[in-house]
Amino acid sequence: MKIPYHRYKDYLEQAFGCNIRKVVVDAGFTCPNRDGTVSLGGCAYCSQQSFTPLTNHRLSITEQLNKGMGNLSMRFERCAFLAYFQPNSNTHASTETLRKFYDEALAADNIVGFAIGTRPDCIGEDVLDLLAEFADRTYVQLELGLQTANDQTLAQMNRGHTAGAFFEAAARARQRGLNVCAHIIVGLPGETETDFMHTARLLSEADLTGVKIHNFYVAKGSPLAEKYCREPFPLLTLAEYSSHVVSMLEVMPWKVCVQRLYGSVRNENLIAPEWGRKTNLIDQALLEEFSRRKTFQGRLA
Ligand code: SF4
Repeated sequence: MKIPYHRYKDYLEQAFGCNIRKVVVDAGFTCPNRDGTVSLGGCAYCSQQSFTPLTNHRLSITEQLNKGMGNLSMRFERCAFLAYFQPNSNTHASTETLRKFYDEALAADNIVGFAIGTRPDCIGEDVLDLLAEFADRTYVQLELGLQTANDQTLAQMNRGHTAGAFFEAAARARQRGLNVCAHIIVGLPGETETDFMHTARLLSEADLTGVKIHNFYVAKGSPLAEKYCREPFPLLTLAEYSSHVVSMLEVMPWKVCVQRLYGSVRNENLIAPEWGRKTNLIDQALLEEFSRRKTFQGRLA
């Protein structure tokens, strides 16, 4: 079956000639939206619980990578790997520290590059210069959190930055030739189709190389969990989510690789919606929506 969107997995396989998997690394970074640099509360939907049990920054970066690659190699044949600096904000340190971490990751056997997740207010010129220097010799992917292009929602979610800050940071990174992937959340409280399409259209004009789409869910330990348990607010159904995601991808050019169409959360951390537990159903619903509409990514770009 032809996949109706540009899967990042396929892009990597073609670029590297083999199966590429990401290995999550926790280098012990904090987040400026939690440590007081920007704010103390963190984003309203963010649950630290979702990060910490998955990773172990008491192990060195090399040890984490070797452990992760060992586990994945048992499941997948002929793989190479990207080190994925994921938890918290992975540029929130001096460039000397960042260089040391990235160098250590690249020195591990079978690591062919790295990806870093961070915030748009956490990549100064010095960090971009450093990343561009690494990108001259290896594969580097910068994942920047936008979540939504609606400033009012960003403020309500306590993101601590505006949509403009994201697009300005993404443009500076692209000017240096860096791969930039936007992380967005579909279904944030109070948002409607107008917001989702506004976000998708702005992203489609931003010359990005990737997008990672996450469904909104209420996670245990997040500030929103308390609010939701006190007074539940409306959440998207799976049918609504699939419909919005497909509409958003229709306006996004094919060259933008789709790294993810939904997020996954461990059962014990999920409060709602219930369908968030059933990743096979989400996959199926999205593919059926593409098929029902006879559509594909970029059809309306
Ligand atoms: S979602 Fe990211 S930016 Fe927001 S508090 Fe969590 S780690 Fe920090």
